[in-house]
Formats: sequence, structure tokens, C-alpha cells
Amino acid sequence: MSLTQYKQFLSQSKVIPKTNDNAEMVQRVGQRIANAITQYYKQKGIANNISNYKWEFNLVESKEVNAWCMPGGKVVVYTGILPITQNENALAIVLGHEITHAVAGHGKERMSQEMAAQGIQAAGNVALGSNPKTVNIFNSIYGPTAQVGVLLPNSRNQELEADHYGLIFAAIAGYDPKEAIPFWTRMMNLSNGQAPPVFLSDHPSDAARIEKLKQLMPEALTYYKPVTNQ
Ligand SMILES: [Zn+2]
Repeated sequence: MSLTQYKQFLSQSKVIPKTNDNAEMVQRVGQRIANAITQYYKQKGIANNISNYKWEFNLVESKEVNAWCMPGGKVVVYTGILPITQNENALAIVLGHEITHAVAGHGKERMSQEMAAQGIQAAGNVALGSNPKTVNIFNSIYGPTAQVGVLLPNSRNQELEADHYGLIFAAIAGYDPKEAIPFWTRMMNLSNGQAPPVFLSDHPSDAARIEKLKQLMPEALTYYKPVTNQ
């Protein structure tokens, strides 16, 4: 379902050409995070979990402050989030977080919950992909047509796990995990505006998150070796 929905989303969006500096940055950061995850999973003996991932990273033109990763490694960053990330390190924080949600199966958990809530029986993957209700649930979880308030946001545990491993993956990829603090602070300040971005409705940002990130930092920093060719 990911592949179909991803292709459809890209065909309906303005995809920034790969030659563009920002699109190139999205590609570079995404691939480094993906390599870091592959390396980490191999060391833990769980590389099978992502053996079917075919990574793809695209930047699309949109005012929306958002970024997401579908299961299977299909990633989109919206140009609207770049003024908030402001630098390559913070983009690595976002992608580390979003990709962790995907590889840790958080979307699948939310999807099963929502399907159960709507009384949809899982009768094999083929049937799922052709059921419009299921496709709607999928889209509302993975981003393309996400509407604020349609579904429960990621649970606190899922957010904590995505922050925890997101920092580690960014650090292994050579990005400074400390950048997470100013980035999430900028996000938190945005939520004081009149229309909080979709990204925030799914990833509530508050002082408690920032506090937690500070606690996670010493461990993440043990993985950090800066890249020199940034
Ligand atoms: Zn999250």
C-alpha cells in the first residue's frame, strides 16, 4: 500500500528536482540516516526487520510544516518545514524521528487500532489495499492527506521511542543530536501561533519533551562522530 500511495502522492505534488540544493540535502541526510539504521540493526542482529525497505527521499513544495516516512522507507519532506529546521543537523533530527516511527512499526500499531475501532477485518494485504476505508486510515496516519484531529496522535511511548532512537540514528549518521533541543523549541514556539502545523498535532511539543530530550542526550552523544564534509 505504501508504494501505491507514495507514487500517487508524488504524482499529485510538486516534487522539487534532485538538482536543487535543498532537495539534494534531503536526499543526503535521509540516506545517511538510512545507512545508520542499517548499520545499527545489523549490529543488533535485526537487519531482517528492514530488509524489504527501498529508501526514497523527496522534497515537495508545500507551505505545510510536515515530514513523514511510510513503512518501506518512502520519505517526504515539505518545503514548509525548512524554515523551522534551518540547518542540516535539525533536518537530521526530524528525519531520524520520522524514520524511527516507520522502522519501529508505530504506524502499523496505530493502523490496527483504528481498523479495529472502525470494525474492519484484516483479510490479507491485497484486500486491505483495495478497501477505501483502509486506504483512508493509511493516509491519515502516514501523512499525505492527514487531517488534524482525525486520529489519535502518536502515543507518548511512541514519541519517546522515536525521540530516543531518532537521536541515536542522527548521531551515528554524523549529525549533532544536541540540535534537537533548539529545533523542538522552535516547534514548540510555533504551536503558540493561530494554526498549529499538522506535524505538531501528530508530535505534540512541550516543555516535557524538551526535558526528556535533555535526559536522552548523554547516551546519544556516545554515538556521535561529526561528519567533516558538510
Ligand atoms: Zn513523532
